[in-house]
Amino acid sequence: MQLTIEHLSKTYPNGTHALQDVSLTIPQGMFGLLGPNGAGKSTLMRTLATLQEADSGDVRLGDIDVLRQKDEVRRTLGYLPQEFGVYPKVSAEDLLDHFAVLKGITGRRERKEVVKALLEQTNLYEARKKKLGGFSGGMRQRFGIAVALLGNPRLIIVDEPTAGLDPAERVRFLNLLSELGESSVVLLSTHIVEDVSELCTRMAIIDRGEILLEAEPLGAIEEMRGRIWRSVIDKSALPAVEREHAVISTRLLAGRTVVHVHADAAPGPGFEPAEPDLEDVYFSAMAGRIGRRRGEPEVAA
Ligand code: ADP
Repeated sequence: MQLTIEHLSKTYPNGTHALQDVSLTIPQGMFGLLGPNGAGKSTLMRTLATLQEADSGDVRLGDIDVLRQKDEVRRTLGYLPQEFGVYPKVSAEDLLDHFAVLKGITGRRERKEVVKALLEQTNLYEARKKKLGGFSGGMRQRFGIAVALLGNPRLIIVDEPTAGLDPAERVRFLNLLSELGESSVVLLSTHIVEDVSELCTRMAIIDRGEILLEAEPLGAIEEMRGRIWRSVIDKSALPAVEREHAVISTRLLAGRTVVHVHADAAPGPGFEPAEPDLEDVYFSAMAGRIGRRRGEPEVAA
C-alpha cells in the first residue's frame, strides 16, 4: 500500500499559495516531510487527514480516493496534530478507554486488551493511572500516538511531533514512530533535519508550498560528496565570501563562523572538503543548488 499525491494545490482566501502542484509518492515506512515554518506542511497534513479541502489535485491511499472518500480515510487514519488538548484530570488509561469507545471498540474485554497493548507499546503502562495533567511533553506525545493508533490505522500522520521534547524524549518518540513504519505508511512533518536523517527511509523537502526535492536521505547525502566545502572565517569576512561563492549555510563555532559552500570543484584557498550530511542537502535545495528550484535566483539559506 502507498499514498500517492498528484498535483495538489491550495490557495487560502487571503491569496497565500500554501500548496503549489505538490506530487509525492509515499510508500510504506517512515517518510519525512522537511521544511521551514510556513512551508505548507500542516496544510498538506490536514488535507491528507480530511480536515480541510484542497483546490485541485488527486490523492490515493491504496484504492481509496482520499479527497472524496473521507469516511473510508478516517477509518484507516491515525493523525497526531501539532497541538492537541487532553483532559488534565483524567488518567491515561481512562481517557484512552474513552477514545476507544468513540472509535467503535464497544466490547469491554476487547477494549481492555487494546488499551493495555497500546499503553505498553507507547511505554506508558506504568503511568496508566497517572493524570494526564502531570505528564511530561514526551509522555503526552506518546499518549497522542496511542490515541492515533486506535483501530490499527494503515496511514499515520504526525505533524511536527518533536518540537518541545527534550533529547531523551525525542529519541524515544522517534523510535516508537519507526517501529510503526514497519507495517504502515508513516508521514512525519518536521522542520528539524535530524528527525529525518535519523529515521526516514524517504523524504521530501518543501518550501513555500513547493516540493524542492524528493529523495532517499542516504542517497541524497552521497550525491553531495565532493561538492560541499568548508571554511572557518571571521564573521566580518562573510559578506565577501557570500559574494564570491554559493554559501548554503553558516554557523557559529567558538566565536568563529563556519561556512559551507556548494561547488563542483575546490572553491580556492581556505576551503577544505566537508563530509556532507542531510543539513547540506537541505540547505542546498533551499538555496536552489540542487532539486527543482535549481538555477533560479538564490534564496538566503
Ligand atoms: P507549516 O506547517 O509548514 O508551518 P502551514 O501549512 O501552516 O505551514 O502554512 C503555509 C502557509 O499558509 C503559511 O504562509 C501560512 O501563513 C499560511 N496559512 C496557513 N493557514 C492559513 C489560513 N487558515 N489562512 C490563511 N493563510 C494560512
